[in-house]
Amino acid sequence: MDSLNLLLENYHLYQDNRLNDRFFKHSDLIQVLDSVRELPGFHLREAGFSAEKRSINLISWGTGPCKIFLWSQMHGDEATATMAIADLLLFLSDTEEFRELRESINKNCTLFILPMVNPDGAEVFNRRNALGIDINRDFIHQQSPEGRLLRSLRDEINPHFGFNLHDQTTAWSAGNTGNPATISLLAPAYDQELNVNTVRANAMKVIVIMNSALQESIPEHVGRFNDEHEPRAFGDNFQGAGTSTILIEAGGYHNDLEKQFIRKMFFKAMLSGILSIAGKTYSDVKTEDYFTIPENKKLHFDILLRNCKLQRNGISYTQDIGLTLDQKINDDRRSVTYSYIVADLGDLSDYFGYEELNCEFLSITETRKIELEEVADVIIYEGTNILLSIENGVVN
Ligand SMILES: [Zn+2]
Repeated sequence: MDSLNLLLENYHLYQDNRLNDRFFKHSDLIQVLDSVRELPGFHLREAGFSAEKRSINLISWGTGPCKIFLWSQMHGDEATATMAIADLLLFLSDTEEFRELRESINKNCTLFILPMVNPDGAEVFNRRNALGIDINRDFIHQQSPEGRLLRSLRDEINPHFGFNLHDQTTAWSAGNTGNPATISLLAPAYDQELNVNTVRANAMKVIVIMNSALQESIPEHVGRFNDEHEPRAFGDNFQGAGTSTILIEAGGYHNDLEKQFIRKMFFKAMLSGILSIAGKTYSDVKTEDYFTIPENKKLHFDILLRNCKLQRNGISYTQDIGLTLDQKINDDRRSVTYSYIVADLGDLSDYFGYEELNCEFLSITETRKIELEEVADVIIYEGTNILLSIENGVVN
């Protein structure tokens, strides 16, 4: 087993339990940062402030010439990457295990890490910042203090590589594999023509290595995002400015709503990328291999009920029912309430579900009429046994 996989086997050494769900706040992150602040090799700096005056902190580590800039949680409710960064900090601060991995990074690279770009959004578990701005659409207008900071830091550091770290909806699938895209990767385009220069090609090559590492742990659960150019986004512009930029998105995985397994895969994605940059192993890769990663498609429901026999107005008919799990943040801002919503109806034979039930020989009771975009309220029976009961959106 190679040392990266061995590290994954020993992940408990580095999983930072101070951030153990998606709802941690700026004050929790500060605790994590305080624990590395005084350690040898780490440099911390209050780089700027959010609209509500929360600090945004830049950590640097390493002595090598290749500069890598990582930033997370531009979208306040996309917390997976910040958890993985906390784990990365624990890994970097270890002095015992896996020394050769750290030495390779330390000698060849300097990491610049900016976790939780949007602390005000994280405070209320919201995508946007306190001014209602989507920071990742603010590269050009520069109306958010967070976006101004991120852009100025790139200009100041002028990194060779950038990692733009996000979460995506769990509805994304890894092409037609039938699996969710647990991790999605993209080397964003720097122009409308989707040209590939050396800067973008290097990002693609690193992604090929990251994908290979992920395939060992989660085969066929990796997707490649569509590379349509978004002129307002940071990744696209950083690529254009000469930083080989890699987007990593955390998606869904079976039975992992709180994303604690996904966080580990996210860590593996980041670290395999960093290691390939440190060892320059990406330089042997062909860019064409990037395009063999299946393109993301939105094909996943949380529950897919196939072949449901229904009756309405005296007409019998069969249809598939796709349910998605809607989440609403509770007043405590530290938990969500889930409810199943009817997301689609009809022939969904090309779609997939995290849970699937073939209802061909089952009977279904609509406690409330099944209607698009309404809360699901159904009971499914096999004979007189209840197989699935969803009451007012909640599984009993
Ligand atoms: Zn995002």
